Amino acid sequence: MAKELFTEEQIKFIEQAIGEAEQNTSGEIRVHIEKRCKEDVLDRASHVFSLLEIQKTELRNGVLFYLATEDKQFAILGDVGINAVVPKGFWHEIRDLMVDYFKKGQFTEGLAEGIKKSGEQLKSHFPYQSDDVDELPNEVSFGKK
Ligand code: CA
Ligand code: CA
Repeated sequence: MAKELFTEEQIKFIEQAIGEAEQNTSGEIRVHIEKRCKEDVLDRASHVFSLLEIQKTELRNGVLFYLATEDKQFAILGDVGINAVVPKGFWHEIRDLMVDYFKKGQFTEGLAEGIKKSGEQLKSHFPYQSDDVDELPNEVSFGKK
């Protein structure tokens, strides 16, 4: 199980980063971690995206950070509401930053940094509203394999 790769503190740290990022933006961030990804990473990430029902936000501004630790696959998938308004390559810088951490095996730090940056960058397109609802759980989702 992918969850065994993380301590409770590390999981809390990631979830805290999500909570803090969501104080910047109405965008909803979800993280899914598993060990293996034997198919195309974007196909797999899209599948997880639907499984976690990330499309169920009012503004369609959910984001999935998908990571397969053993197969070293990673993808950031934003919902259609985000894709419609952000410039092309919006995620590239964040992805590169995160991959640098992952290459060193620093999964927790990489995720937390990327999540933080995403909150800052999404802010201008989807500012936090005072009546914000936490539409998607901040809990890290772990795959069984
Ligand atoms: Ca929210
Ligand atoms: Ca949330």
